[in-house]
Amino acid sequence: MYIAGRESDNKLRMKKTLLLILSHFVSLYLIAQDVKVKRVIDGDTFEAEDGEKIRLLGVDCPELAHFGKPAEYFGKESTEFSRQNLEGKTVKLVKDSLNKDRDKYGRLLRYVYINKQDFSWLLIEEGYGYALTTYPISKRDEYERAQNDAREGRRGVWNKHLINKNTDANARLYWLNMRNNVRHNEGCKYFQNTKDGKLTPDKTGIACNICGG
Ligand SMILES: [Zn+2]
Repeated sequence: MYIAGRESDNKLRMKKTLLLILSHFVSLYLIAQDVKVKRVIDGDTFEAEDGEKIRLLGVDCPELAHFGKPAEYFGKESTEFSRQNLEGKTVKLVKDSLNKDRDKYGRLLRYVYINKQDFSWLLIEEGYGYALTTYPISKRDEYERAQNDAREGRRGVWNKHLINKNTDANARLYWLNMRNNVRHNEGCKYFQNTKDGKLTPDKTGIACNICGG
């Protein structure tokens, strides 16, 4: 009796293990999904053929002109880069279990792979966008390394010579807290250190009380 009981325990354990393995594959299948890109909205956002809007994880690209606001520095180039590489192509979407499924605008938050290439990483590495690491993502270190590469290579948004030529502002970059619209300079403890913030060459928003913005 005792041995038989142990045997059925083992069987039960094996069944549980098999179920666990199975559900693991099912969830992998569900979180990795192929979609066709209908149109690129800006560097980090596109619409799929089924109408879903997808926001790339871990990257923030400068924006095009919208709602009467002028285009951000390098916004046109960044959008064009994504358009050429993504539009009409089939890409693989992968969810990050550390992050949310959708953002507050209802867009799917996903890593986007094209020909096994992580497109967020490519945008950051080539200077078409900033590493967005103010929310939990598993690729934080990887993206910060790519951003350091791009900055050292002065690529794209890090090409301060071009920033000087194209804007009236000096070559400094500011950190804009998108929640309270407060601007910080590079010396501030809040620089790249608030939720929902972004880097900008524009001296917009309200100057921070501590650093002067
Ligand atoms: Zn500050």
